[in-house]
Amino acid sequence: MKIIDKIISKNRYNRIGLASAPKRICVHYTGQAGTGVDRLALYYANVAAGMFPDKPNSWTSTQYIVGLNGEIIRIVPDNEISYAASGHNDGTLHIEVCYKQNSGEFEQASKTALRELVQYLMKKYSIPADKVLRHYDLTGKRCPAYYVDETRWAALHEYITAPEVNPRTLYRVQVGAFSSKSNAEAYMAKVKAAGFGAFIVEVKNNA
Ligand SMILES: [Zn+2]
Repeated sequence: MKIIDKIISKNRYNRIGLASAPKRICVHYTGQAGTGVDRLALYYANVAAGMFPDKPNSWTSTQYIVGLNGEIIRIVPDNEISYAASGHNDGTLHIEVCYKQNSGEFEQASKTALRELVQYLMKKYSIPADKVLRHYDLTGKRCPAYYVDETRWAALHEYITAPEVNPRTLYRVQVGAFSSKSNAEAYMAKVKAAGFGAFIVEVKNNA
C-alpha cells in the first residue's frame, strides 16, 4: 500500500491544525460520479488557499481520498482534525472514496485500496471494526449513497474490516483406498448414497 501525501497548508478554513486522536474511521463517497483524486485534492487545496471565504459549507476536508484506480492520497495528517461530518470530526479519520457509477457503487480497485487503508489504520490506532462507520451512521446524511443500504454496507464492512485468513488450511477426510478402480467407484457410490460428497483421487504408489 502506498500513501501519497499531498498535505494542504494550515489555514483557517479546512485545516486549522487542531489535534485529534484517531478513534474511529468514517467512510464517504465524494458525491460526484467520475471525479478522480487529483480534482478532489485540488478542490480541497483551493478551499485551503481561501478561494471560498464566504461559503462556510465548502470549508470541508478529509484525511484520505481513495481514487478510481486505487490511489490513496492524504491531505490532512491523521493527528489533526479534518471536516467531513459536522459535529463528529474530533477523533474521526475521514476517507472519501471516488466512484464512477451513478449508483455510487465503488470500483473494485477502490474497494481493494480502501480495505488496505482501513486495515492499516485499524491496526495503527487500535480501532475496532465497530468503529468503522459510514457518514450516514454519524449524521444521517445519505453518504456513501450506495452503501446506505444495510445489506450492501454489511458486505462492504466485512470486506474492509475482516482480517484475511491466508493461506487457508483444508482438512480432508479419506474413507477408503483401493487398488482397483471399479472397487473405488462402487465404494464412492455407497458414500454418495449415504448423503456425503465424495470424489476419487488417483495416487501413484512408489512401490
Ligand atoms: Zn460523507
